[in-house]
Amino acid sequence: MHLAEMRSLPQALAMLFRVLQAQLSALWLCLAPFSCRLRGALLPGRSPPLLEEGAGAPDGAEVPTVPTSVNYHFTRQCNYRCGFCFHTAKTSFVVPLEEARRGLAMLKEAGMEKINFSGGEPFLQERGEFVGKLVQFCKQELKLQSVSIVSNGSMIRERWFKRYGEYLDILAVSCDSFDEEVNVLIGRGQGNKNHIENLQRLRKWCRDYAVAFKLNSVINRFNVDEDMNEQIEALNPIRWKVFQCLLIEGENTGEDALREAEKFMISDEDFERFLDRHREISCLVPESNQKMRDSYLILDEYMRFLNCRNGRKEPSKSILDVGVEHAIKFSGFDEKMFLNRGGKYVWSKADMKLEW
Ligand code: SF4
Repeated sequence: MHLAEMRSLPQALAMLFRVLQAQLSALWLCLAPFSCRLRGALLPGRSPPLLEEGAGAPDGAEVPTVPTSVNYHFTRQCNYRCGFCFHTAKTSFVVPLEEARRGLAMLKEAGMEKINFSGGEPFLQERGEFVGKLVQFCKQELKLQSVSIVSNGSMIRERWFKRYGEYLDILAVSCDSFDEEVNVLIGRGQGNKNHIENLQRLRKWCRDYAVAFKLNSVINRFNVDEDMNEQIEALNPIRWKVFQCLLIEGENTGEDALREAEKFMISDEDFERFLDRHREISCLVPESNQKMRDSYLILDEYMRFLNCRNGRKEPSKSILDVGVEHAIKFSGFDEKMFLNRGGKYVWSKADMKLEW
């Protein structure tokens, strides 16, 4: 829209502010290349100066939250049974593919740069075809800077990489332990499938098909004493997200929850001890409970934003019904916390100087 077409001065100023903010973000993306080889470039506390929430906004102009980075949990179904899972199979609903595409296009229109597909297990739906088509759509049609998936990795086959690998920037695989017995205790496993052998296979395919490899671990009572240095060095992920086990009312704690995660919980001190043991690993990105609660924009299977501020997931209306700008007001999203936890990083594989 041309500025002259806008109805009011505050609207024009708000638009100018957003353009300036986007340009500053783009500048930061250009200046902060990273990998495990550029150790520490993006560790918390070493980020560039951050924009304060609303800083510089013109008086009286309401600056809408921009959904820069969105996590779309399009399914709650999963083939694993992790005891601490905080996005459980409370429904089996999945938005039809065309509706999901419509919602994603709306998010792009509202400023989305990065999408992460998550679940549940994203590869369960149509054996990975559903998420594959969304990944392709987001990269090819919407031209998003970054398209990523978080998966437990158990259902991904090489033919998926052949078909869709080129459209995927980052694959994040969950792994909480390099001791298979601990994985079984946690519930990360299915029958005789070995989670760690599978992880090694995925690592290789990520290299073969030029997809950046990321690792996610939830630190809990059963793995808090483990030393993972050697295995993480060998896997060499671009980022190792280390989460502190989190209680969410209605998901893994409380009367209507499908899990009882209390026995998995660890103290802040325990979590710090784990981090300290792995302090040499510079791609480690720690996430305490507080950081996790408010610093993600989460869309559920109905394309509703989930607000976790009160310790449970309270949904907005669906963006498909009320639009992004209205729904996002109920997301509870803390943009400052998002930036502080290093939520904005070099997330497009085209910008990563990685050796494949
Ligand atoms: S793999 Fe993820 S979604 Fe599935 S049960 Fe475990 S934590 Fe939950």
